[in-house]
Parts: sequence; structure tokens; C-alpha cells
Amino acid sequence: MLAPDSSREVRTIIRSLLSRQATSVSSSAPSNRISPNRSSAFTKLSPAHFIQPVFLVEGKGILAPSNAIPQAKSVSIDKVTEFAREVTACGIRALLLFGIPRHRKSDGSTSLEVEGLIPRATQLLKEHVPELTIFADVCVCQYTPEGHCGLILDGKIDTERTLHVLTKQSLLLARSGVDVLMPSGMTPGIVKHLRQALDATGHYEVAITNQSVKFASSFFGPFQSEAFHLGELKDKRSYQVPCNNTKEALREISEDLYEYGDMVVVKPAFGYQDIIYRARKMTTNPIVAVITSGEHLLLEETAKQMRLSPQAMQQRVSQGLLQAGADFIVSYFAESWSTQSRKVTELSSRLTS
Ligand SMILES: [Zn+2]
Repeated sequence: MLAPDSSREVRTIIRSLLSRQATSVSSSAPSNRISPNRSSAFTKLSPAHFIQPVFLVEGKGILAPSNAIPQAKSVSIDKVTEFAREVTACGIRALLLFGIPRHRKSDGSTSLEVEGLIPRATQLLKEHVPELTIFADVCVCQYTPEGHCGLILDGKIDTERTLHVLTKQSLLLARSGVDVLMPSGMTPGIVKHLRQALDATGHYEVAITNQSVKFASSFFGPFQSEAFHLGELKDKRSYQVPCNNTKEALREISEDLYEYGDMVVVKPAFGYQDIIYRARKMTTNPIVAVITSGEHLLLEETAKQMRLSPQAMQQRVSQGLLQAGADFIVSYFAESWSTQSRKVTELSSRLTS
């Protein structure tokens, strides 16, 4: 296993995201608790912990709920600034952009169009909502009819050609203003490859947050249905981490850190708090937990069936991820939870003032 370089500092953009997080230290523990040595400090979940994913689509005037994932939004380019302002109004400071083009080609070239969805959206966001940090998905699956996370040759992933296209895609996104590239295809050597390309072209401050631990999971189902209009789940087990292989997950994290990855990603989040906790012990770099579309749906449906508050469930689950060691959470409920949280805070401050 490669030794992680945990002493290296993360890039400025990530430090500034971390500094925006509201860390609340409570000094109001109930006086009847017999635990004088217990620390009363805790990290309080806030909108600044969230990264809001959004599906960019072609067309005009679209700012609508997604078909497959409740609370997720599909947004056309002319509405992306409006959407971003809604998101920042509730305290969220980062967006994760996914491009969902109408036309796809097997060589992945749709992802390299200068006038593509993510480049155009990023340029607008940087101009009109500059306080937002822009994460962008880097993959070929939304841009090819096959829907796999690599280009296919003779029924197999062609790693060399995939790296070539992903590097070109990343440089295009960096030029358009993306702050954090988020490769999601589990392509071997991707972090090293992209870092070299970014540095060679002067994009030193563009960060790389590889989805290093992406466990093979049926929880990706609703996303695939949204992104590819597929009725069935694509089988990606040959390049994702087996759900029962902790050693491989830790090796992936080590390799990313060794190649100067800026953050660690664990996805799905439910059931993998142990991996988040172990990653926390390996590095001081930020850790991102991704609540996938299937996990999101699970919470939604359970809340509905049990007549529970979805916000309360989202709060508890997210707080648990922070307690395990995560710094950021990618979630489709980021905006709705943050809006609700802000309302409660405003109401309680009115009642107590
Ligand atoms: Zn992919």
C-alpha cells in the first residue's frame, strides 16, 4: 500500500470552503448531567457542510424537479443563475454540476464541446454568483450511449483512451472556471494524470476530488435512470469497489492521496461510516460523503411510510456522517434541508428576541 502524503496542504479553494463552515461550540449542556469530563464541543450541521448536485439539461426555461429523484433539480442554462441564487440564499456554498446532454457519442466527444452544458453554466455562475464554489463531475457515462464510466473497446474499458478524453474534458472545465474536478469513473491513475495536465497548463489552484471509494451499489439506480433514461441498472462492478472489500477501499484512498488528490470521497455513505472514520485517521485532507440517489429515496419513502419528518431524518443521518469524520456531504436534499433549517433558526431568534 502506498503511503499517503497527509502533510500536504489542500488548495486555497478548499480551505476557504472549510472556513465557511459554522462550527458551533455549545456551552449549554444540561446541568443535571453527571459527566464533568465530557467535552461539550460538537460540530453542528449547517448548510455550509453541503454540496448541492444539479442536473444541467438542454432546452430553455427549465428549473424543474427531476423525474427520478425527489428534490433534485433539472436546470437549463438560462435558469442556472436563478437556481444558484436560490441555493446560496439558504446558505449553501458549493454546487456539483452534472451535464445531461441529449446527444451522445461512443467516443465521448460530446463531453469536449466548448459550448457544452457544464462550461457554459460555469462561465455564467462565475460571472453572476462568484461566491459559489463549482464542483464538476468528470466522466464519460452521461456523454456516451453505452452509459459506462469508460470508453468501450471490444467489450472492455479502454483505460488509455478514457484517460485521454477525461484529461481533455478536465482542461476544458478548468478553463471555463470550475474550481474542483470530481472524476467519478474509477479510472486507474486519474488523479496523477489530471494533476500533471493541470499543472502543465497553469491551473495550479484547480482541485481534484476523485471519487476514490465508489462502492458497487444498487443505490445508484435512480441517478442512472435520471442521467441515462435507463430502466435498468448498468452493471459497473468490474471497475467499482466491491461492497465487502475494505482493504481495496483503503488502498484506493492511499493511492489518491499519494497522487495529490485534494479530498477523499466515500460513496454511498450509508453503511460505510467505518470507511469514513478510517479515512479520517489516514489524512487531514477533507472527506466528502455522498448520499446517493437510492439512499435519498430510501429516506424519503421511509419518512412518508412512517409519517416521520424527512428533515429530522436527513439531519440525523447527515450529523452521523460528520461524526464519523466527513467534512462535506453531497446530497439532493441539501437545498430543502437548508431552507427548512434557516426558517427554524429565524423563527427561534424571533421568539427569543
Ligand atoms: Zn460515470
